[in-house]
Amino acid sequence: MDFDVIICFEIHAELSTKTKLFCRCPVSYDAAPNENICPVCTGHPGTLPVLNRKAVECCIRAGLALNCNINSRSIFARKNYFYPDLPKGYQISQYECPLCEDGYLEIPGDDGKPYIVGIKRIHLEEDAGKLVHSAVTFEASEYSLVDYNRAGVPLIEIVADHTKNPIRSLQEARSYLGKVRQILQHIGVSDCVIEQGQFRCDVNISLRQVKSPDFNERVEIKNMASFKSIIEALKYEIKRQSEIIESGGEISQETRLFDEVKMVTVPMRSKEDAPDYRYFPDPDLVELDIDRDFVRKIKDDMPELPGIRLNRFIKDFGISEEDAHLIIGKRDLSDYFESCVPYCTDLKKLGSWITNELIKVLNENSISIKKFPVAPKDFARLITLISCNNITEKIGRLVFKDMFETGGTPDSIIEEKGLKPIQETDILEKMVEEIMKENPGVVSRLKDGKKESVNFLIGKIMKRTRGRADAKKVSALILKKV
Ligand SMILES: [Zn+2]
Repeated sequence: MDFDVIICFEIHAELSTKTKLFCRCPVSYDAAPNENICPVCTGHPGTLPVLNRKAVECCIRAGLALNCNINSRSIFARKNYFYPDLPKGYQISQYECPLCEDGYLEIPGDDGKPYIVGIKRIHLEEDAGKLVHSAVTFEASEYSLVDYNRAGVPLIEIVADHTKNPIRSLQEARSYLGKVRQILQHIGVSDCVIEQGQFRCDVNISLRQVKSPDFNERVEIKNMASFKSIIEALKYEIKRQSEIIESGGEISQETRLFDEVKMVTVPMRSKEDAPDYRYFPDPDLVELDIDRDFVRKIKDDMPELPGIRLNRFIKDFGISEEDAHLIIGKRDLSDYFESCVPYCTDLKKLGSWITNELIKVLNENSISIKKFPVAPKDFARLITLISCNNITEKIGRLVFKDMFETGGTPDSIIEEKGLKPIQETDILEKMVEEIMKENPGVVSRLKDGKKESVNFLIGKIMKRTRGRADAKKVSALILKKV
């Protein structure tokens, strides 16, 4: 049997605001456990929430970037459930009247044409705390600790629309997630650092036999962070569900978890519906009346969207499409590239050095571009030196390594380490003569018209000068002498 697939994401992104959603506690990821807490975010009786304006702004900005309508009236609701990491016994979220509704995102579809994925809503809510178990699994733990630093951190939830142009394949799922993350990063709404749990998602998946009118029940897989796990979990579910349907069984509506070690999904609980959460408007928070001027201002201040930036990088800066995609993939990297631009004459080379050498150094040293110690001006100068044949690419890599380790400028490193290129004709001429004398066989082949033999001789000179000789000049000198 062949099956159609519907995949529907609920993405949670932690907003990069300075403080929490309803109190002044800082949002930070390196604080000691329970350092960033106060009576409000730990749900003490008698405390009242005060809404963070910046978080509302971020949610609306995300809504505009994802082509949503911004509702002029919006309501916060209590989502009631009991769990040790939820101090109040309810989460402040939105149910009816979210901030943003009816959006869409264009992604490359499976047929190669652009495909518009429907987005049902984007709402604002607070995050829960975090349980830290004493062993790897809950079952094996003797005790669990709770850290409330994350309780009350603002989140947006982006809910895709499973009735309007849903995602139909793993490939589309990958594109959608990647693009949403890229947009949130570029518009400064969330850093979306997966390792810090800033970008997580739940995903619904249901199947139907091709040409059958109805889809089977959907299964939700909860709480996934890495793109790889999400795709593996979906792959597993497509296989599991199609086998059940083929053998005449029925899919039950349930919530499952993905076991990253065994690479399988396991049942967690039968899926709750909205009534189980007993949503009701939070009596401590007034209805939001969203002023049109407020929305207009957010629209006017919207940072450049990644798609537009990508085209500008290719068109205005002439960097290759492949490099442009890699650079745009990370907002901080795009910003670094742009800060180099005013100092660099060869932007194409700048692009390829960023995607090759710079990314390599970041990965080898496990650091982010934010902590990269080479100033854009110095990096750009290095590229210019290579581009003008002042140094070879190989020497350039040595200098770059030194710049990274010592923080020196390329010119000072070249000077100190004696890496200055040898361009003096008399010195090079002398070397060429010596090398030709040492390699008579190669020289005679060269005389017989075997032009490629010249590279062998250039290689010898490069070895002797540790790559400092001007290869073009050497080549010309050899050919002159033959
Ligand atoms: Zn607090």
